[in-house]
This record gives sequence, structure tokens and C-alpha cells, in this order.
Amino acid sequence: MLVERCADCGAESFPPYGMCRSCRSRVVEHVEITGRGHVYSLTVNYQRWMPGLEVPYALVLVEWADHPGVRVFGRLRGCPPEDAAVGMTVEVGFEPGPGGYAVPSFVAVADGASGTAGTAGTAGIGTRPDDGGE
Ligand SMILES: [Zn+2]
Repeated sequence: MLVERCADCGAESFPPYGMCRSCRSRVVEHVEITGRGHVYSLTVNYQRWMPGLEVPYALVLVEWADHPGVRVFGRLRGCPPEDAAVGMTVEVGFEPGPGGYAVPSFVAVADGASGTAGTAGTAGIGTRPDDGGE
């Protein structure tokens, strides 16, 4: 996913604008974000806006620690909408949108680093022998 970075002041922004939002410089370059981000905010949509739209689904606003100022809105995949949470780790993905365009979306990452209690399923990582606390 491409964002813009200002060659003069270093500010990054999305969506691309052709001009820096901070200092109005027109000397901007494109930077690709490929790393994992974190959910800054989210909402769950229950409204079927279009025929064939599967509801409910979570919409997340994602930010990246190494790209301050950039926040991208997209659909969350890979987990039930009720499991979406602020701070969870996501990867950038794309999916086909209306008219043949690719729209940004995000895929939940279960890496344990951002997970909290209640993640049933893939137990057996087994590298934290911290039970038996007496
Ligand atoms: Zn600038």
C-alpha cells in the first residue's frame, strides 16, 4: 500500500494527495507500507448497504508505529467482527471492490503479542511455562 511522504518535511499521509498536508510542499514521494499495523479505532457495520454485502463486518482505522500520521480505513477480515479490538495487530491486504478497483482491507494477525485472554483455538505454543504459580 502506497502512502505519500513529503521530501521537505517528512510528513506522511494517506490517501495520496499530490501535496504535503503539513507544509504544502509539492515535492512528495511514495512510500510502501508492508508491515503490520495496529487498530486505532473501529466500528462494526450491520447495515446491508448493497445487495450481496455480507453483514456484520468490522471496519477498522489502522495506524503504524513507524509511519506516524498515517491512518487507513478498511474492512477487517480473518476474525469475527465481535473479536475486533483496539490495539489488535493487522496485516495489509487488498480485496476486489466495486468497479474492479482494489480496496484496502486488513487481516487479523493472531501473534499473541497483542492478544489477551480468551483466545481459544490454537493453543499449544507452549513457550511460556507460567502456570502453577504456587
Ligand atoms: Zn511537508
